[in-house]
Amino acid sequence: MVSMDPDYSRQVALKDIGAAGQEKLARSRVLVVGAGGLGSPVLQYLAGAGVGLLCIVDDDSLAPSNLHRQPLYELADAGKAKAELAGTALAKINPGVRVETHCERFGAANARALVSDHDLVIDCSDNFRTKFLINDAAVLEHKPAVFASVYQYEGQIQVYKPQAGHACLRCLWPDATIDGLVGNCAEAGVLGPVPGALGAMQAILALEILLDIGAQLAGELLLVDFLNFSTLKLRAPRRKGCGAPACCLIQGLDADDATLEIELRSLDEALTRGWQILDLRSAEEVAARTIEGSHMPMADLLANTASLPAGPTYLLVCATGKRSLAAARELRKAGFSVRSLAGGLARLHGSG
Ligand SMILES: [Zn+2]
Repeated sequence: MVSMDPDYSRQVALKDIGAAGQEKLARSRVLVVGAGGLGSPVLQYLAGAGVGLLCIVDDDSLAPSNLHRQPLYELADAGKAKAELAGTALAKINPGVRVETHCERFGAANARALVSDHDLVIDCSDNFRTKFLINDAAVLEHKPAVFASVYQYEGQIQVYKPQAGHACLRCLWPDATIDGLVGNCAEAGVLGPVPGALGAMQAILALEILLDIGAQLAGELLLVDFLNFSTLKLRAPRRKGCGAPACCLIQGLDADDATLEIELRSLDEALTRGWQILDLRSAEEVAARTIEGSHMPMADLLANTASLPAGPTYLLVCATGKRSLAAARELRKAGFSVRSLAGGLARLHGSG
């Protein structure tokens, strides 16, 4: 009869792991932010490896367009909360692993508490704002973090390990960032297995950090291009003075979003309020689905805010609500009365 108990013999057989290493994994607590294309393989591999506690934070629900890069899920579950679905799937892979699920957004309000409560945080998010929030919380709480980003056929991966003097995200990109200016998967497209491969690499690095084996990308940034299968390691020097406040801008990050974003059932509600609709999508996106209001691609808007009349309240609209939120932050800084359509057109459409 086949045993139904978790069996770690194939990794325990590695001389750097052994029974002692397996016990280390069983005692480990890992926070995974994002249960999407990167999070799928990260969660599956870490559950399979017997990491003691996996905490999943994701406020999104499953969409059919996710499935080409998120094999953790099934089409029949479209519309359900991903964090819950991931928790159920992991319990089947390894009932010996404790799974905590948070169907909420990783934001400035909960970032530090979540990060401080775990041994390691893995960034499986798809936006720069979340990545920098994770960074800031990791720097402030002196916790290691594994970052990955994916764009179309490419990815990059970085480890922040404060004890080992690694550079943090802000050491490399001190002037970051207006989220939404760079395409995300919804807008730029991505080949499904690319985040899968990067996520698998994050899982490897996570296990090596928990087990304290290997070089763990110390002082390096790894770039991978899956169109020509090239990899490049760049030097990633730690900035002098890395730490608060230079590498921790967390304080100013999230406070205003609640008052910037608005949920609407239809765009008519905005018109009824006398708001002016600005559609920030690209010409191609507009051609595929036209809406009321003026069309002004995001880059044009940000380059021409000075010529925008200051009187009306603007409702910024894009496909998923990310570009519009990023642009709304900039317009508010510039003194405009502005709101961002939460969830973008995708959510309007979803609610009929
Ligand atoms: Zn830094």
